[in-house]
Amino acid sequence: MENSRPKILIVDDRMENLVALEEVLEDFDVEMVRALSGNEAVARSIRNEFALILMDVQMPEMDGFEAVELIRKEKRNENTPVIFISAIYSDDYYKIKGVNAGGVDFITKPIIDDVLIGKVKIFLEIYEQKLKLQEAIKNAKELAIEAQQADRAKTEFLTNMSHEFRTPLNSILLLSKTIAENAENNMPQEQAELATDIHSAGQKLLIMVSDLLDLVEIETSKLELKLAPLDLQSFIENLEKHYKPIAVSKGLFFRVELKDDVPIYINTDSRRLHQILRNLLSNAFKFTLEGGVNLRVSCNIDKKSGAHTGDALAISVTDTGVGIAEDKLEEIFKGFYQVDGGTSRQFGGTGQGLLICRELATLLDGNIQVESVEGKGSTFTMYFSSACIQNELQPVPAVFTEDRWSADNKNGLLEQLKENGKKRHGRKLKAASICDHDNIFCGKKILLVEDDMENIRTFKKVLSKEGFEIIVGVNGRQGLEALRNNPDVDLVLMDIMMPVMDGYTAMTEIRKLDSAIREVPIIAVTGKAMEVDRQKCIKAGADEYLTKPVDLDKLFLMIENLIIRDGS
Ligand code: ADP
Repeated sequence: MENSRPKILIVDDRMENLVALEEVLEDFDVEMVRALSGNEAVARSIRNEFALILMDVQMPEMDGFEAVELIRKEKRNENTPVIFISAIYSDDYYKIKGVNAGGVDFITKPIIDDVLIGKVKIFLEIYEQKLKLQEAIKNAKELAIEAQQADRAKTEFLTNMSHEFRTPLNSILLLSKTIAENAENNMPQEQAELATDIHSAGQKLLIMVSDLLDLVEIETSKLELKLAPLDLQSFIENLEKHYKPIAVSKGLFFRVELKDDVPIYINTDSRRLHQILRNLLSNAFKFTLEGGVNLRVSCNIDKKSGAHTGDALAISVTDTGVGIAEDKLEEIFKGFYQVDGGTSRQFGGTGQGLLICRELATLLDGNIQVESVEGKGSTFTMYFSSACIQNELQPVPAVFTEDRWSADNKNGLLEQLKENGKKRHGRKLKAASICDHDNIFCGKKILLVEDDMENIRTFKKVLSKEGFEIIVGVNGRQGLEALRNNPDVDLVLMDIMMPVMDGYTAMTEIRKLDSAIREVPIIAVTGKAMEVDRQKCIKAGADEYLTKPVDLDKLFLMIENLIIRDGS
């Protein structure tokens, strides 16, 4: 076993001096290493790390100063303290020379035992501290690496989990919706209602999965904001439209107040701001059993100067609900926290909404504050910095991209697509369920490239109900083959994560085919729901991108749009 005692190198060309030094220092629990010349000292320093070096100055061949200079070149002893011991070189000139050579102290001969013992004791203590510090740094580095690895594993796990959840959710949501519609009227009403329950439970699960993915995106800084001027009034009106029926159904009031002095536009990410307010309003309605909810938009203007103050704009949601105890007001912004664990049973929820809200608010250059009185109600306020105010700008139309919060964007996307559909076709938006002359989907051929059997069955069921003819490839390669053999395919629905050949490769290969079929419209349908995934799909050749679980209205409108665009 290696000796773990600290080592002291003692260097002197006379053996009796070395022995005398050892005797003086015999009470220290150290290992003494002797060297009878400068050369020997250098050689020893190559193999050992020393806590301290006691170096005689006057020696033949190589003096102590030279020896120390060479020892210092060795990494392991570059900072080892050196005490020079000398009888004749005790004036200042030599002391300075010694310090320049890397010595830290001087002792003159004849050595006074107590002085030597005192100095050695101090240097050994410093050495011990140094070892402890090195150990602590090593541990901290290891911990940091472990934490990084754990963080990466967590992110990977959550991203994969989100993907894995979406695929079965696709079947659950689509099938339960189809059953609940009871289109053929061949099921007792009670059973149809049960299917509605399954559908809404699936929706809740989807929101949880989306929440998790949002958190991952925020934590890993992958969340990209799309800043654009937003028309405040119509934004607030949309919220009012959405929550009014909820208020009515719960017997609550819902008042909306937009102060005159608020700016016309704010520069923000409308989808994210909507996500924040939707969460605050949903909570307000969820935790209020009597009374109601106020949504108020107001401006903070300095009365004297007329300028906006730091927090220029405030959107607040006030309710007359159960309220929150003072000592819980910070806790509620932590992940998975609910004031009363039991509330989840009474009110539902996952306890992540406010954490996401606060993180998003910060990203949007704002912050969220809460005031509450238990039993009386709460006010959550989102403040915006003056940088968000945009009085001069014209709003640009929102760009609609597929998102996980179908409710957020759905209306916009639907409106946009509906408009296109109406303009071009003048037909009803929802295809007739039988193949009548009004159904443009009738007989259109869709190639479904998907490896999950349940999803294949689900898609087949819902698509054939609309009149489509479906052919299937269970991986990218089979899809490609099917397309070569069926050049009359009108559209491809392409899953992404598949064995043998994934959807990205399949789409790239399709776009390289040497027949006209390479132009076939492709909708990428995937459980991978991050913004980067969408960009990757489009880059690989997709015309559109939809996340699982698929919103059927969106899917049909996209198909209609693509088929019309292609003039088929
Ligand atoms: P969730 O509502 O999904 O549980 P949130 O993060 O949105 O998660 O809220 C965390 C907790 O904060 C809630 O469970 C509830 O206890 C409390 N809370 C949030 N908003 C309100 C409100 N308006 N009134 C009373 N309690 C609230």
